Amino acid sequence: MTNTRPKANQLFLKAAELMPGGVNSPARAFRSVDLTPVFAEAGEGAYLTDVDGNRYIDYILSWGPLILGHRHPAVVKQLSETLMKGTSFGLPTEKENQLAQAVIERVPSMEMVRMVNSGTEATMSALRLARGVTNRNKILKFEGCYHGHGDSLLIKAGSGVATLGLPDSPGVTDALAKDTITVPYNDIESVKLAFKEYGNELACVIVEPVAGNMGVVPPVAGFLETLRELTEDYGSLLIFDEVMTGFRVGYYGAQGHFGVTPDLTCLGKVIGGGLPVGCYGGKKIYMSEIAPSGNIYQAGTLSGNPLAMTAGLSTLDNLTETSYQQLNERLNQLKQGFLEKKEQYNIPLQVNVAGSMIGIYFSDTPVYNYETAKNSRHDLFNHYYQTMLTEGILLPPSPYEGVFLSTAHTKADIDRTIEAIDVSFKALQAH
Ligand code: PMP
Repeated sequence: MTNTRPKANQLFLKAAELMPGGVNSPARAFRSVDLTPVFAEAGEGAYLTDVDGNRYIDYILSWGPLILGHRHPAVVKQLSETLMKGTSFGLPTEKENQLAQAVIERVPSMEMVRMVNSGTEATMSALRLARGVTNRNKILKFEGCYHGHGDSLLIKAGSGVATLGLPDSPGVTDALAKDTITVPYNDIESVKLAFKEYGNELACVIVEPVAGNMGVVPPVAGFLETLRELTEDYGSLLIFDEVMTGFRVGYYGAQGHFGVTPDLTCLGKVIGGGLPVGCYGGKKIYMSEIAPSGNIYQAGTLSGNPLAMTAGLSTLDNLTETSYQQLNERLNQLKQGFLEKKEQYNIPLQVNVAGSMIGIYFSDTPVYNYETAKNSRHDLFNHYYQTMLTEGILLPPSPYEGVFLSTAHTKADIDRTIEAIDVSFKALQAH
């Protein structure tokens, strides 16, 4: 087979001397699929070109933020205008008001927000706030949910942690680990039991309202509602981590879609439109406890950075209710494609969807939590992955990551992707 990525191979060898595993974030190392990473050169709409000149339909989309695709003209134009005024001031800017306003208007639970630089910062800060206002230490999270790399949250986590099989990272102290209670996702009875035992000690429950870090796992009927009821009964805060689902599962976030309103919400990815942004917010009575109006400390040199605010604002401005209809149509087209090819080639396959996210598992059994997600056959996934890449389809390189769509993906792009699935599944059948 000819080597189509010689420059990437070379760069990766060099990178491995310079950075742990050759990367600045583990999932990018393409370890679980046993390949040299795709080294990005440029993006345009739904397409990404690598350093070797190969062109792919991009379903990674920077792991979610690029819901309008790469270099959306309106985003680029506004970013250029902001850039000409300066990159950072460390002073309040009007742009911060505008993005805060746009978020508050869309997300039902957010009356007041604080901008940070990543999803990790958002969840870490939200936990501190929940602990601060309740004066309790313990938190409850779900197996296979990923909430960034804050110490308390690196227990039985999903995403890269699941991909690498490192469920409880060394370096997290026993004391913190002891304060993190974990329960299987979608398991209402286990949540009730956990509340019976620890309810009065729980500062909060943190949950991905659609789990997107063990593939894609939507909540079963009553799951989110039960969390809402129990947290209210026991005086704990309910935190929705919508870093992935925010503005992706729908215009009003997953909370708008499912009609369950948390106390605090964490956002990231789409609200930064491809620049580093996170955000947490919620009811005023809680948010006003944050410094300087309250005593719970949280700060950031680059928080509310004008370029980041501009990219986020421009992205939200270009997302209308029609965008979500279009995303939904493309998603259904792709889902149907997977299901048809599954039948045609008799492949063990589960397809889970939410908004513009799709999770596929090479398994005969339905996937509704981390245990069932782990049934997905890695050998089939890797084989499928490699063929898709050769066919010019760039997917997240792990069975525990969802596939993302953008408004730049056309019907023809999805048709082309389904052709690639055909090639890939045909080869799997012979495997
Ligand atoms: N929460 C969720 C649900 C996420 O998916 C992620 C990142 N994939 C994070 C938090 C962490 O965000 P970041 O990588 O920006 O720190």
